Amino acid sequence: MNEETNSTSRPKVNLMGLTQEELVEFFAGIGEKPFRATQVMKWLHLGAVDDFQDMTNLSKSLRAKLESAAEIIVPEVTFKKYSKDGTRKWVLKLDSGNSVETVFIPTDGRGTLCVSSQVGCVLDCSFCSTGKQGFQRNLTTAEIIAQVWVANQSFGPRDNRGDRPVTNVVMMGMGEPLLNFDNVIKAMHLMKDDLGYGISKRRLTLSTSGVVPAMDQMNEEIDVALAVSLHAPNDELRNQLVPINRKYPLKELLAACTRYLDKYESKRRRITMEYVMIEGVNDSPEHAKELAKLLQKIPSKINLIPFNPFPGSGYRRSPPERVKWFQNFLLKQGYTTTVRSTRGEDIDAACGQLVGMVEDKTQRNSRWREKLIDVKSGDNPPLKK
Ligand code: SAH
Ligand code: SF4
Repeated sequence: MNEETNSTSRPKVNLMGLTQEELVEFFAGIGEKPFRATQVMKWLHLGAVDDFQDMTNLSKSLRAKLESAAEIIVPEVTFKKYSKDGTRKWVLKLDSGNSVETVFIPTDGRGTLCVSSQVGCVLDCSFCSTGKQGFQRNLTTAEIIAQVWVANQSFGPRDNRGDRPVTNVVMMGMGEPLLNFDNVIKAMHLMKDDLGYGISKRRLTLSTSGVVPAMDQMNEEIDVALAVSLHAPNDELRNQLVPINRKYPLKELLAACTRYLDKYESKRRRITMEYVMIEGVNDSPEHAKELAKLLQKIPSKINLIPFNPFPGSGYRRSPPERVKWFQNFLLKQGYTTTVRSTRGEDIDAACGQLVGMVEDKTQRNSRWREKLIDVKSGDNPPLKK
């Protein structure tokens, strides 16, 4: 049954997060035929309609039935900004104390949506503002899907907009998706469903910091693209930047990557390796050489992400010429290597950062807020000069 249901009362079922099978089951429960699920999914996900009264091919009596048994919950948009380059950003309020952010980035014919999976994150990577907010709670499947819904809806009614604006989804917003496993996997199935958001498996990417057992589990349950937040070419440095490395060190992480690539007989093509570039920390020529060697046996695409500074981070972004050098070196070693552009900066599009400024949940946050005007000061000094 739906995750929002509890046994003491009979609350309305939120249809936003139901897969096709669950919706069929829901309709069976109220004495309706399975094709009703198809009809409602088309309205809800393809049409971005959230009012049963607007679902005009349903009879009046069915609409009334739905009003009493079900609801469609769209979180309140408390902040929204559309920037000149096409980037759009929303902060969605999930409940009284919790908000998440969602970012839409258009690039040559594609529309990529960066989706959040948790409020905060328990893993506390040293360079990540979401991690610094602590962990509050997991998102429900409905709350994950609602982010895609809001983005699509912002482009107006389906009839006016032709193809769906969101063509790609990356689970790279706030939170570690593999630590909210069931809800994320279910949401990704719904994103792939043609009656949901029709996102193909190559256009749907889950990014993980390396929760090894959950990577294997995911391999069993869904076929999507994988991105790994590598950020360091050796255990010593990665232990400091990505603390989960102490539990699942590089050897184990790369073995899981190989299992992912080998899952099907036809073999998957490659994994995206994310590498945030922090000045004086992980951006030296030695690091580049070590990285090239480390990934020799793993078909990889390397995505260099210039570090996005935030108040109190204590880190600086690697200078552009250093990023360029790193990229050229890796290219010469035969790796497809891209640099994530820093578009959307006028709306502070780096995931996880805006909520940290808008919300004020922990002591830590309030300390940071005081530092908003002083980006360079901080309690997290660079590891190496
Ligand atoms: N928890 C998952 C997905 C969310 S983070 C993960 O860690 O992979 C999405 C990406 O943004 C990750 O690669 C993360 O390391 C990176 N990131 C986090 N903070 C950043 C910052 N301040 N600047 C640049 N990239 C950052
Ligand atoms: Fe969590 Fe990812 Fe941020 Fe690390 S980088 S703290 S895993 S959200």
